[in-house]
Amino acid sequence: MVAELNALRDKIDETDKALLALLAQRMQLVAEVGEVKSQHGLPIYVPEREASMLASRRAEAEAAGIPADLIEDVLRRVMRESYASENDKGFKTLNPAMRPIVIVGGKGKMGRLFERMLTLSGYQVRLLDKDEWEQAASLVSDAGMVIVSVPIHLTEQVIQQLPPLPDDCILVDLCSVKKAPLQAMMAAHNGPVLGLHPMFGPDSGSLAKQVVVWCDGRSPEAYQWFLQQIEVWGARLHSATADEHDQNMAFIQALRHFATFAYGLHLSEENVDLKQLLALSSPIYRLELAMVGRLFAQDAQLYADIIMSSPNNIALIKRYYTRFGEALAQLERGDKAAFIKSFAGVQTWFGDYAKTFMTESRSLLRAANDNRK
Ligand code: NAD
Repeated sequence: MVAELNALRDKIDETDKALLALLAQRMQLVAEVGEVKSQHGLPIYVPEREASMLASRRAEAEAAGIPADLIEDVLRRVMRESYASENDKGFKTLNPAMRPIVIVGGKGKMGRLFERMLTLSGYQVRLLDKDEWEQAASLVSDAGMVIVSVPIHLTEQVIQQLPPLPDDCILVDLCSVKKAPLQAMMAAHNGPVLGLHPMFGPDSGSLAKQVVVWCDGRSPEAYQWFLQQIEVWGARLHSATADEHDQNMAFIQALRHFATFAYGLHLSEENVDLKQLLALSSPIYRLELAMVGRLFAQDAQLYADIIMSSPNNIALIKRYYTRFGEALAQLERGDKAAFIKSFAGVQTWFGDYAKTFMTESRSLLRAANDNRK
């Protein structure tokens, strides 16, 4: 029996090695695609190509008796690697006439990421960080674009402190809140103004599939090339007014981060044994705990700034707190019928999204389970 098993295992090893050789061949081809895209300024992520390729492979897999989800999982993972490696090829310079680009706060996390992407795209980038203001006037004197990437609570002050910029210089900020910085930029500079919010952390590896929100300020024709350049990096652009942006971010960031903070605070105050909690948890709880824990691996100042950036955020969190209290009162009364009734109400409100989220989270949970050691 042992000999039989070993023979089969040897064959599996051989098959895995053949898969490795095929993967190496695929990555080589992807590298060549990267070269072509880089030369022609084509986006590294093309949703239609990805969707049609996956649909074909799913159909072929099914015909071959392989679960369609298996090939999709494998290919998505392989494509993630490909997107990250396409950065190495550099990107086409969409605006070769662009004068130097100055990143204020350029030595920070987001500033460095934009420095890297812009340099990979052939632009000349200069950094202006907190102890370098005596050089500010000379650094910006011939700048074609100035990008402000300083901590949120300093953004308006730094914008006001900028020396006069050339009239045609594009002034951009990357702040996670948009209304106040955009107003400050419009007041400080008469030339083109653009508000950007990269909806990802600096550790994302590739910009492929990441969302960048943009808020028009002034003279949009002057910065279309930059929006296209960001698309070439693989990101999806989404336009919003500063008000719309900030209202949505109150939910996506302020409320979410505060609720996560409060949950982490509660775990620490209860002094739970995290090791034991993890040992006993299902993949979904592990994933939820990871989402809470990862907040505390990041910058407290950034989260404090995001949450406290607007009185609207605090008002929203207070409404959440009130609803939490009302739901708790139902529990205290032992009012199961009321709980079931409000559950059904929320279910109706989520509608088809509930089913979509069920499917989407299922594949995340499977991946979380696969990664379990
Ligand atoms: P960071 O703290 O890593 O970097 C900020 C940089 O600004 C530092 O190099 C700091 O020295 C510099 N700085 C501080 N005061 C300055 C001054 N007076 N003049 C010039 N430079 C100054 O912060 P970060 O995470 O890179 O965030 C920068 C911006 O990017 C923020 O507006 C933030 O909202 C936005 N953003 C960050 C993330 C993220 O996940 N980190 C995501 C989206 C948007």
